[in-house]
Parts: sequence; C-alpha cells; structure tokens
Amino acid sequence: MTETITNWAGNITYTAKELHRPYSIDAISALVAGSERVRVLGSGHSFNEIAEPGPEGVLLSIAALPPVIDVDRAARTVRVSGGVRYAELARAVYAHGLALPNMASLPHISVAGSVATGTHGSGVGNGALASSVREVELVAADGSVVTIGRGDERFGGAVTSLGALGVVTALTLDLVPSFDVEQHVFTELPLDGLDSAAFETVMASAYSVSLFTDWREPGFRQVWLKRRTDQPLPDFPTDFPWAAPATEKMHPVPGMPAVNCTDQFGVPGPWHQRLPHFRAEFTPSSGAELQSEYLLPRSYAVEALYAVDGIRDTVAPVLQTCEVRTVAADDQWLSPSYGRDTVALHFTWVEDTAAVLPVVRRLEAALDAFAPRPHWGKVFTVPAHVLRGRYPRLGDFRALSRELDPGRKFANTFVHEILGD
Ligand SMILES: Cc1cc2nc3c(=O)[nH]c(=O)nc-3n(C[C@H](O)[C@H](O)[C@H](O)COP(=O)(O)OP(=O)(O)OC[C@H]3O[C@@H](n4cnc5c(N)ncnc54)[C@H](O)[C@@H]3O)c2cc1C
Repeated sequence: MTETITNWAGNITYTAKELHRPYSIDAISALVAGSERVRVLGSGHSFNEIAEPGPEGVLLSIAALPPVIDVDRAARTVRVSGGVRYAELARAVYAHGLALPNMASLPHISVAGSVATGTHGSGVGNGALASSVREVELVAADGSVVTIGRGDERFGGAVTSLGALGVVTALTLDLVPSFDVEQHVFTELPLDGLDSAAFETVMASAYSVSLFTDWREPGFRQVWLKRRTDQPLPDFPTDFPWAAPATEKMHPVPGMPAVNCTDQFGVPGPWHQRLPHFRAEFTPSSGAELQSEYLLPRSYAVEALYAVDGIRDTVAPVLQTCEVRTVAADDQWLSPSYGRDTVALHFTWVEDTAAVLPVVRRLEAALDAFAPRPHWGKVFTVPAHVLRGRYPRLGDFRALSRELDPGRKFANTFVHEILGD
C-alpha cells in the first residue's frame, strides 16, 4: 500500500497490500469476487486489529459509495448505506420528525462499523445500536448481493458480524417518533453504600445514564443523566447520598475543556444533540487515547465495581476516565450484550500501549469471575478460547460465515482466533 492508513487512535497501522475505495456496488462485487482476502474499513474508530486484513489482503473502504439515507415516514424506517456516519444519519432522520432510539457517545462512527462490533449507548431499556437494525444488505464472498432481514433464521448473526460475512453496503433501521432530551450532570457519587438496589435506581433514573470516574478515589466523579422530556422526572434515590448538580459544564475526562460536549444544565434539545456526549460539529479529541470495555451481567454490576476499586491504584495511573453504562439484552449471537441485561465498564486509557496492556491484563483478572465479554472494537487480551465459552451461539455464527464465505475470504487473524477455525 503506498498510503499509510492508521485507525483513528493511531495505534494500528494497516498492512494491507492494497486499499480500495470503490464508487459502486458493482465495483465492490467485482473486487470481492476477484480477491482472496478482504476486510472492510469503516470510520476506523476501533482500537485493535479487527479490521486488519494482513499484508496479503485488501482493505476496502466504502466511504466513496454515494451515501443513501432513505427515510420511510409511514413505516418509520430508514435505509442507510453502511459507510454513513451516525451524525449525518441522525440529522436526516430528525428532519423527518423521527429518531434513532439511542446513540453512542461519539456520532462520528460509521453505521455498519458500529453495529458490526456491538457498539452501544446507555439506558436500562436501550439495546445496543444493532437492536434497531431490521435488514442488512451485503456483498458476499462470491460477489453476490445477499439481503438478510429479521425473521430470516440467519439474522442473529447478520448484524454484529465483526465484518466476517461480507461487505455491508446498506442497512434498514427501525425509527421512533422524535423526542427531546435534557442532560443533567451531577458530581461525586460515593461507592461506599452503593448496593445493587441503589445502583439500579441510579441507572434507571433517566432514559440514559453514565457514571464517570478516574478511580483516584472510590466512587464516581460525575453522573450524566439524559432525560427524555416526555417521561417523568427522575426518581432520585432517597436512601442514598445523591450527587450534587455540577456548577460548570463538564467533560468526561477531568481537566479537558467541555466545549466539545453536548449541552448540559437541563437545556432541552433534540435527541441527536443530547444522547451523544460529544457534539457532531467538533472533532472530539486528538485520538490520544486507547479504550477497553467489558460487558457483564448487570446483576454483577456492584460486585464488579468493587473489584475494580480493589485495584484502583493499578488502574488510575494509566486511566483518563472510566464510564459505567447499561445495555439491554439483545439477540445478536456475537453481541457482547447477547441474552443478558448488561453493565458496561469502559476505560479510556492514556495513549501508551506498553503501559496500558499490563493494566488491562490485571483488570481482566479482577473481572474474570463475572464472565465479561470485551467490546469487539477495543483493546483486550482475554484469550479467544475463553471468549468462545462466553458466546453460546458462536457455533451458529461459524456455520453462517462458512455458508456465506466458504473460502474464509473475510476472516482475518482476529476473526480466525475468535471463531477457532
Ligand atoms: C472516541 C470514541 C468513542 C467511542 N464511543 C463508543 C461508545 O459510546 N459505545 C461503544 O460501544 N463504542 C464506542 N466506540 C467504539 C466504536 O464504536 C467501535 O470501534 C466501532 O466499531 C467504530 O465503527 P467504525 O466504523 O469506526 O468501525 P471500524 O473500526 O472501521 O471497523 C470495525 C469493524 O467493523 C467492520 N466493518 C466496518 N464497516 C463495515 C462494512 N461496511 N461492512 C462490513 N464490515 C464492516 C470492520 O471490518 C471491522 O471488523 C468509540 C470509539 C471511539 C474512538
């Protein structure tokens, strides 16, 4: 490859022999049919080698495909090309008086790449972003276009697919009527006294709730509540020392300027300008970070938080911020929230792989008893054979990938290890 292509964080440099940016589905079909190893690159926001095709492979970006965002108001659906980013999709959907049920913290990520890795926002009743997908169109290994919709027995593998089934050119998503959201930020929620009941109350006190901490002290530095204005006021815990409202605009990373963050102080605004933490019109940060995230059954949330607290002297020195969110159970076979209501413990690390990896291993050991599933797009070291035991439908996914891609054209080292084939 003459061009040097890295991921957003710059910790991965792709080694593909060629990079292609085809302009049409026909060109994608021809390229795929004529290639031996292909991986698709979305917006490159993953922190590991999930998109890396290897030096003999082709890296294919669909960013040059003419963007399609077709909203069907009556059916409340949108058909969107895979390379479109959530920010652009959200603006178009909002213009039709409709909404996506949830968004991730950052709106700059591509739709196909996000749902392929199980990307999620927060909210006890909100599934991962893939839960909104009702149909996937992909170019399979032989160059043919395959459509898999809800109701098809293959659908459970089709959305959160790690890019292993083909090139996702378009997706159809369910929409809901538009809604407004107020964002309230509170400070200092103690860990001491936080039991499962209090945790559940806090996390259910708004449509989407995030807790942030740098683990320099036990407890949380910030609590972000994203409340739908059409839902009742939050039911603040009465038997628990609830946090005080923030007096200045906050960034999740202590000390960072909050100008890039979405509006706070309860100013109501449309869903797409409040559900992400970062504003679409700003680049959120320089990419000077690494990220890890572990999704585990929500019933273990408090125990898991105490386990992290137990090693905070190890974690804090390389941590920028830790975010705690909830994700409702879903039925995508490779989704980290498959079959279980989930708590997601996210870690934004400093940009130093050598210093971060030993801490990641220590953290994984501390969380091991809770059978966490790491976020597919972030840094983790949990061995593949351990992960395989945490995905009961992995065998079905392996069979589906063999059906659509008998020559394993779309499997890179990352995927081979996970699937164990
Ligand atoms: C600042 C920041 C904030 C983030 N916030 C969140 C968050 O709030 N919640 C969360 O869960 N995650 C979050 N993430 C992680 C991010 O959502 C995932 O890494 C996601 O996969 C990024 O999408 P992408 O398009 O950049 O995918 P890429 O990293 O480009 O690719 C990821 C995978 O998707 C596949 N893929 C991409 N496009 C296609 C396609 N068209 N067809 C087939 N396969 C495809 C790739 O082959 C690869 O396997 C964040 C990341 C960053 C950098």
